[in-house]
Amino acid sequence: AWALPRDQSVRARAAAVVPGGMYGHMTANAQNMPPSFPQFYDRGAGAYTWDVDGHRYVDFLCAFGPVLLGHRHERVEAAVAAQAERGDTLSGPSERMVDLAELLTETVAHADWAMFAKNGTDATSAAVRVARAATGKRKLLKASVAYHGANDWFTPRTAGVTAEDRLNIVEFAYNDVASLLEAVAEHTGDIAAIIVTPFRHDAFVEQELATAEFARAVREAATREGAALILDEVRTALRLDVRGAWEHLGVRPDLTAFSKALANGHPVSALVGVDALRSAAAEVYVTGSFWFSAVPMAAAIATIQEAVEIDAPAVIGRAGSRFKDGLEAAGRAAGFEVALTGPVQMPMLNFADDRDKKLAFAFTDAALRHGVLLHPWHNMFVSAAHDDAVVDEAIAGVVAAFREIARTA
Ligand code: PMP
Repeated sequence: AWALPRDQSVRARAAAVVPGGMYGHMTANAQNMPPSFPQFYDRGAGAYTWDVDGHRYVDFLCAFGPVLLGHRHERVEAAVAAQAERGDTLSGPSERMVDLAELLTETVAHADWAMFAKNGTDATSAAVRVARAATGKRKLLKASVAYHGANDWFTPRTAGVTAEDRLNIVEFAYNDVASLLEAVAEHTGDIAAIIVTPFRHDAFVEQELATAEFARAVREAATREGAALILDEVRTALRLDVRGAWEHLGVRPDLTAFSKALANGHPVSALVGVDALRSAAAEVYVTGSFWFSAVPMAAAIATIQEAVEIDAPAVIGRAGSRFKDGLEAAGRAAGFEVALTGPVQMPMLNFADDRDKKLAFAFTDAALRHGVLLHPWHNMFVSAAHDDAVVDEAIAGVVAAFREIARTA
């Protein structure tokens, strides 16, 4: 029988010493997941992860994005070990910082400069600050529901945040040009930035690619207003297109926030931008004690080099397609109308007529017991370590999971 005794005992200990037992996006694991879902993990290797009770899973969460090449990727860990030998947090940055900035400006199409931080929120917040410094304007246009981080402007939960903190946020509907233009018209002359994700990846709803019309409208509106277009690639970094996620649409942002996969799980984020915003970026004060640490930068260099060399978006795309085809066929065979929506590199599970997510919960619950870690309401992530054998193993697990829920449905 399935049991998570160690997970249960660690949860009980956490409940005593961590407010609510867990915080931030990890509370979802505790409060809003199927019963068999582990909260605490012990280790990862390649495409696999192990929970604290020793169960092994094919990992389709990839730490919610950071794991791009597979857990503990050899080239990345070698770069980490080599830099760690020399030191990590020093009395100033190491040369790796400049190496990394050079690499990003070579790799990302619109990037003329780069600066670094730790988390996605640091990068999106810095982007907004640069935009305001450059324009002297206040308003920040964002798609409603879209997540851009945990600071006072963006956090989805408003406990501890004042209305004043959010006064300058204006929302529009993603992929809805009319609603975008309405928001722009209402605040024309006072718009510092428009921030968007490359595609719509809100939790609980089907993913939606940006239409070319929408992307172009965002670009044109920002240009017309003299506002900065910020592309929030925190979640998509290196998975869709290493040059920038909107390159295929021919739309270039002024600023891009990267995090998550940038260093294959090591803590570093980046803000890159165009020359026109260089002096504003030099003017703002953004920093942190650990923002200059060398080890994560060495990890980022190795990760980006590897991602470019193997064409990570294509490799992960093939793995994602194989998984999508296999899962959807397995679902159909078991009598379920189910799809993986959005980019195949970061798919979202979607059962037809499953508004309350009952089927998604039952299915992901069963999949865990067959060695596959999926998510019922958040987009998932495929890595370059998900080779054919791994994906086929996952599909076999998924087939068993569909059979199980078909029996009990
Ligand atoms: N933007 C997007 C699109 C994200 O997905 C996230 C994290 N899920 C963030 C910003 C915030 O990143 P972090 O949690 O690293 O601060």
